[in-house]
Amino acid sequence: MALNDLKAMDMGETEQWAKDLGLDPYRGRQVRHWLFKELAVSFNEMTSLSKSVRSFLSDSACITSCLITQIKISRDGTRKFLFQLEDGALIESVLIPERDHFTVCISSQAGCSMGCRFCLTAKQGLTRNLKAGEIVDQVVQVRRFLKGMTGSPEHLTNVVLMGMGEPLANYEEVVRALRNITGSDALNFSNRRVTLSTSGLVPQMKRLGEEACVNLAVSLNASDDETRNFLMPVNRRYPLKELLDACRAFPLPNRRMLTFEYILISGINDSDEDALKLSKLLSRLRAKINLIPLNPHHGLDMSAPPMERILQFQKILVDKHFTAIIRKSKGQDIGAACGQLRGQWTNNT
Ligand code: SF4
Repeated sequence: MALNDLKAMDMGETEQWAKDLGLDPYRGRQVRHWLFKELAVSFNEMTSLSKSVRSFLSDSACITSCLITQIKISRDGTRKFLFQLEDGALIESVLIPERDHFTVCISSQAGCSMGCRFCLTAKQGLTRNLKAGEIVDQVVQVRRFLKGMTGSPEHLTNVVLMGMGEPLANYEEVVRALRNITGSDALNFSNRRVTLSTSGLVPQMKRLGEEACVNLAVSLNASDDETRNFLMPVNRRYPLKELLDACRAFPLPNRRMLTFEYILISGINDSDEDALKLSKLLSRLRAKINLIPLNPHHGLDMSAPPMERILQFQKILVDKHFTAIIRKSKGQDIGAACGQLRGQWTNNT
């Protein structure tokens, strides 16, 4: 039988685990402190516990630790991590430097089955869902790395689930992982600074609104069903009307907004008419729009529009009183930008 994974367990479960071993629940709290505050990746690092206790504990639980096999550094300071999981599956996470903090973009699946036409991850299909501990550990490993690099792991303040995979297709493990990412007794990220991005799995969006409190981003990319069916097969299951209804029903705390991501693709979704349709579609929503010029990758038969078209598209939305920001994709030169992740050993990108 697989051992309990301590990185996936919550405080109550960890205390119960200690009790079941005949120990004081305090031992459970001590272990959690090592895992999430000291960023330990093995029992050996828990030096406030005697060797015999460490060895006793390690017989009854495991600590997921993803192996960093490659780090690529972009000209803009973005770092892409290639992790190898216990069964050999490869996933990627991206550490993005902002003006005064860092954001980490993590993966929720090895590969992806959603088939979005503009995305490199889609080309490899789904290998498997990640376990909650593997999702949490990407944050732990990157925080540890940052501690070594800057002396302070606290500079990592934002987490986005926008890496490989559709997070809501791995709902249970993702929500379990979110508890340890945002829990004050665990990694303690503010839920205002954690964002989950979905291609639009409507039933799971409804559940997420009831069971977690994180920011929601919707990868929209089109303003009519025909274009969205072409770009994102998920739209055939949950067309725009259903998706937008779910967005309207999503509970938003005060002053928070939904984010809509809109990848701009030349000749496909970037006309004035598209921008006007988009503004109508989102008119009754508290929403901001991230405009992302398509990132190139090998074998892609589409391209980003020229900058003047992008600016015109933005202007139409701004004139309609939307917050519409053109996102400059970081890490493009190392294949770390939106839609470029593929989880493979590489020499170049
Ligand atoms: S964009 Fe996201 S949901 Fe779509 S195929 Fe890529 S990883 Fe999957």
